[in-house]
Amino acid sequence: MTTIAAAGDPPADPNKPEIDTPQAPLAARGDGRRNLVGLTRAEIAAAMTELGEKSFRAQQIWRWIYVRGATSFDGMTDISKPLRARLEERFYVFRPAVTRHQKSVDGTQKWLLQMADGAEIECVHIPESDRGTLCVSSQVGCTLTCKFCHTGTQRLVRNLEADEIVAQLLSARDALGEWPPPESGRKLTNIVLMGMGEPLFNYDNVARAMSIARDPEGFGLSRRKITLSTSGVVPMIRRCGAEIGIMLAISLHAVTDELRDHLVPINKKWPLAELMAACRDYPGLSNARRITFEYVMLKGVNDSLADAKALVKLIDGIPAKVNLIPFNPWPGSSFECSSWDQIEKFSDVVAEAGYTSPVRRPRGRDILAACGQLKSDTERARRTHGT
Ligand code: SAH
Ligand code: SF4
Repeated sequence: MTTIAAAGDPPADPNKPEIDTPQAPLAARGDGRRNLVGLTRAEIAAAMTELGEKSFRAQQIWRWIYVRGATSFDGMTDISKPLRARLEERFYVFRPAVTRHQKSVDGTQKWLLQMADGAEIECVHIPESDRGTLCVSSQVGCTLTCKFCHTGTQRLVRNLEADEIVAQLLSARDALGEWPPPESGRKLTNIVLMGMGEPLFNYDNVARAMSIARDPEGFGLSRRKITLSTSGVVPMIRRCGAEIGIMLAISLHAVTDELRDHLVPINKKWPLAELMAACRDYPGLSNARRITFEYVMLKGVNDSLADAKALVKLIDGIPAKVNLIPFNPWPGSSFECSSWDQIEKFSDVVAEAGYTSPVRRPRGRDILAACGQLKSDTERARRTHGT
């Protein structure tokens, strides 16, 4: 394993985050074989039928991929050798290359994953006492330009395919050593679509990937364990609710159109009134199924107590919680994080109105894995290597 130091990184310190670079071979693409990752169980069954095999083969293969973590057909011992050889000729099981792996002092891990065409994305695992959350990317970069977000300063390369979204879960489980996943104390229990990109601009691939993540014979994650965060792609919010039904988080960040137009420019297309109407219509809302409103705390910009009161009015009647996110700085960012004192006062106003208002503890800041910091370190590291 080699170590990549990013330009401007502090000197190595054994107590500070470990940085290593495990390499894995890329699964071949473009050699005519079909990738099984990204297909639903029913689609694999159809592919088996086409091969003249019984559809129960799909069940076996599915379990090898999603319960045992198989990356080739060699080890699929309940399948005959001749059939394994036929499968190998026609199919493959995709894994991205892990081009960089970092672990924060707080246990958060970040992987830089390289797709078959060389595009790179980041994926973050956040361990907590009672759960482990994987923060998954939906696009390479982002077309939107929220002022406080580093991902937004990078040009979009492309949407991720469904298999590339599912592969983040598989790669994380490889690294966490959870094949097969233990009965209790699992390290990967929740997914948040809060990595790079706007998931509702890549709806079809996200929907497909989440249906694979939810398959009870595989990852088996319930709708309640999956949260999608959107900057406010209003027409797709309705579809997401009706078709995928996962938990919704809204990147609100401002309570007037004037400020939100500036901070979250997609607001010009779908202003607050439309966004709030879509939230009110989100199916299945109840006290047990609340919308999360994310609110980044920017000093002197959106953090006054008048803002807090207006926020409470704006979300009135929606089963909601408000997640206050201390601003995570990145090189060149022009904002400052609100003081802790101000964040607490803001949180108190929201709590007094009856909404849970936890402050999101920044995780993995030392490896630039916190909200809005993704990809930045990657670019710095690449520059160091002149690639
Ligand atoms: N594109 C989606 C999901 C990814 S961003 C969205 O915007 O919702 C995940 C969350 O991090 C969003 O609420 C986003 O607004 C927030 N965020 C972005 N940059 C941030 C920063 N520098 N500090 C804190 N939170 C940030
Ligand atoms: Fe894109 Fe979300 Fe960042 Fe806005 S906050 S630029 S939508 S990733």
